[in-house]
Amino acid sequence: MFENEERTNIETLGEFGLIDHLTKLIEIKQKSTIKGVGDDAAVLDFGGKKTLVSTDILLEGIHFDLAYTPLKHLGYKAVQVNLSDIYAMNGTATQVTVAIGLSSKFPLEAVEELYEGIYLACDKYNVDLVGGDTSSSKQGLVISVTALGYAEEKDIVYRNGAEEGDLIAVSGDLGGAYTGLQLLEREKLVYLENPNIQPDLEGKDYIIERQLKPEARKDIIQLFKDSGVKPTSMIDVSDGLASEVLHLCSQSNKGCNLYEEKIPIDPMTYETARQFNLDPTVCALSGGEDYELLFTIKQTDYEKLKNLLDISFIGYITEPSAGRNLVTKTGTVHELKAQGWNAFKQ
Ligand code: ADP
Ligand code: MG
Repeated sequence: MFENEERTNIETLGEFGLIDHLTKLIEIKQKSTIKGVGDDAAVLDFGGKKTLVSTDILLEGIHFDLAYTPLKHLGYKAVQVNLSDIYAMNGTATQVTVAIGLSSKFPLEAVEELYEGIYLACDKYNVDLVGGDTSSSKQGLVISVTALGYAEEKDIVYRNGAEEGDLIAVSGDLGGAYTGLQLLEREKLVYLENPNIQPDLEGKDYIIERQLKPEARKDIIQLFKDSGVKPTSMIDVSDGLASEVLHLCSQSNKGCNLYEEKIPIDPMTYETARQFNLDPTVCALSGGEDYELLFTIKQTDYEKLKNLLDISFIGYITEPSAGRNLVTKTGTVHELKAQGWNAFKQ
């Protein structure tokens, strides 16, 4: 779970000592951060721009399993999933706050590793840690991160802006985080049955990282800026492609045609899904946690993005009465559903 062998009881520091220990090396990066950790509230100044705020909570046993999640990765991921929400508004992420609940099984060294991951993500994505809260917890670890950012009003992309004829696109590839999770869960079971067997995850780095160490797509937001494209609607893929496409359609009051053959799936995801007797398409549609960006653009913007390797065009928006459809590789049309793919499981 954590690598440092030492175990310093947190009680030797006390709550304020712990906060100080975790935050004393912070160097402010953003000019919008006027006051960070140390007062009753952080003070931020976005200079007339719109403020974006998003919060997520991660609970041990519900969202993560410390049997195979290194705390450093967990800290990193907790920040990433929140930054992803700010980018999904086409915004710039600038600050995070981190609230933690710690049960007595966590020594100082464990919390330090968690914060190493948090700071790594903050440094890489150029955001300041400006506050948080620290509490004891009766059971397990709780981490809640709030991300803040800004955008010019004219640049903000909502979920409800998709228009008939717009193209549906997604960054990166999908289903990797879910198949990575299947691998980790399997190795956990093997280990529980026989602790002498070493985990067999060789060659599976990519999908394991997709699960344990996702990267929010800040680079895609930059790409939009560079190519002069403003998506008409956008959402990040946290719950699986199907669920997110349905969100865009319902909030925009539109239908869609999504093409199975266009859904980007990495070969390792494909192969691993097959090994688990899972349909790779189902992993992409219902798996979740890929933290890619799903968005729609006007057809006239297609030329500007069509040659970008990391963006796939997977369908288009239709009038609402046409329904929300998935066109399979064999040409059959299914109603797009957020779960329950038994109908076309092979
Ligand atoms: P309060 O009693 O006003 O909630 P705290 O004593 O909890 O204040 O926090 C003191 C300062 O330390 C505040 O600036 C708070 O945002 C920050 N802080 C508390 N816990 C954490 C944490 N786990 N990570 C980062 N900053 C924290
Ligand atoms: Mg507090």
